[in-house]
Amino acid sequence: MSGLTLQNIVKDFSVIRAVDNVDLTVPHGAFVCLLGPSGCGKTTLLRMIAGLDLPTSGRITLNGKDITRTPTHQRELGMVFQSLALFPHLTVGENIAYPLRIRGRPKDEQAKRVEELLAMIYLPGYADRAVSKLSGGQRQRVAIARALAISPKLFLLDEPLSALDAKLREAMQVELRQLHQRLGITTIAVTHDQREAMTMADTVVVMNGGQIRQAASPTEIYRRPADSFVADFIGQTNLVEARREGGAVSILGQPVADLSLSPGIERATLSIRPEDVRLGPPKVGALTGEVTFVRDLGGVVETFVNVGGQQFIAVSTPRERPDVAVGQTVGIALTDRDCVVLDK
Ligand code: ATP
Repeated sequence: MSGLTLQNIVKDFSVIRAVDNVDLTVPHGAFVCLLGPSGCGKTTLLRMIAGLDLPTSGRITLNGKDITRTPTHQRELGMVFQSLALFPHLTVGENIAYPLRIRGRPKDEQAKRVEELLAMIYLPGYADRAVSKLSGGQRQRVAIARALAISPKLFLLDEPLSALDAKLREAMQVELRQLHQRLGITTIAVTHDQREAMTMADTVVVMNGGQIRQAASPTEIYRRPADSFVADFIGQTNLVEARREGGAVSILGQPVADLSLSPGIERATLSIRPEDVRLGPPKVGALTGEVTFVRDLGGVVETFVNVGGQQFIAVSTPRERPDVAVGQTVGIALTDRDCVVLDK
């Protein structure tokens, strides 16, 4: 099978299980982001894919070949780490050519490849520059070019953009995604930034406690989270308990007219995205709450509503801004379409 597969991967560091029985298939040419909070095991998983750590148990295959115990230098990988690890005493061209030089490739081939790669990262003519004279974003691109010099089978990135300021990071996320679209190299990136993962990945792998909680497209992860951890970790959401009470479904003790639970389900956690929370006048069958805070962030307006002691957040565009003020009583009408049923 072409692509990368991880089967039952476990990694223990003495008493700590850093990676707990991970199964994952990365199709050839896909861009996958490993996403999760600090300590969830994403770096350890990447290090095993890179051959920098050995799994305690499990199997890794690349294009059908078992590479679980193959040394890093025989895996034909390109890697970029947060630290970049460019050689400060070498020029841009020498840095990019380095992997080719240590493999003994002819000088003219090295020079040609450096030129190609410099064009690819939009830095033509930079070969003789000192690395120390480059901006953060330019260094980033040089590190990427160096990792791609050998045309690797697998491109691995560990928090490659986290040292950059917010604006540059966003620009580089788009650049990395576009580069991937042009080259089609199977790519796995580690990040703790969900916007970054959503921007770059075909498949976002959400991890927690060493396990994969969900692996799916950005849209699916956001619209159909597998559990309340994923719903809460990806973007903002309102997590509430719904119960069947008498004939109706209630939230926080208030019956909601247009909400149903599947037969046999008596209670469940619901995830309601803030953009699906519509505020209106109080009415029978809608939740009733009090506006506690309105925040205008320019592009979006956030309204906080206290419903029976729990805070709801509603998001709208400035044009659709609800006509409400702090202290006002409002209604939140919910339908099944607005809610994802989780953790039944
Ligand atoms: P971060 O975003 O903070 O880098 P992470 O999701 O990448 O976190 P890992 O670095 O993979 O998490 O760590 C997973 C768990 O394994 C953590 O509990 C960590 O303390 C532990 N761990 C990682 N490396 C080692 C090691 N070499 N020795 C002992 N424990 C380790």
